[in-house]
Amino acid sequence: MPSLTLVLNANFEPINVCTDHRAVGLILNGKASLVLNGRGVIQTVSRAYPRPSIIRLAMMVRRPRPHVRLTKREILRRDDFTCQYCGQRMTYLTIDHILPRRLGGQHIWENVVAACPSCNHRKGGRTIEQVQMRLLRKPSEPPTSANYLFGRHLRDNSEWVPFVEGW
Ligand SMILES: [Zn+2]
Repeated sequence: MPSLTLVLNANFEPINVCTDHRAVGLILNGKASLVLNGRGVIQTVSRAYPRPSIIRLAMMVRRPRPHVRLTKREILRRDDFTCQYCGQRMTYLTIDHILPRRLGGQHIWENVVAACPSCNHRKGGRTIEQVQMRLLRKPSEPPTSANYLFGRHLRDNSEWVPFVEGW
């Protein structure tokens, strides 16, 4: 089963995750070097290669700061799977538009929050002022720190932690 490799930019900033097969390809093409191994070998027809856990690109890749995609999954992650009205943490949550769409509310980070079904139902198509509900915190676009982008992989790849933290 292919495992994942963390890809560092030339300045050591974590920028991507790829399959270990792709990582071996980048190393063989001279586009990246091995930073951390420790996962045994990948056996091909002709020879064996170290299975990379972390590689570093030889050339600096410049790119705009990534944005987190506005999806239900990412909204729930941002809100830590917690209803932003009553504070209940649960696996089944809905998305609430703070200013309802039919009142002109936009589908943007600042106007969407995780809400439990009962809070969502209680609020209905009204504004929080109308129903006198309060938000736990003001929603905004989540920061795209390396920890946010790659944090979900750290449990299975604990050796990545020192390379992800601080970026
Ligand atoms: Zn709730």
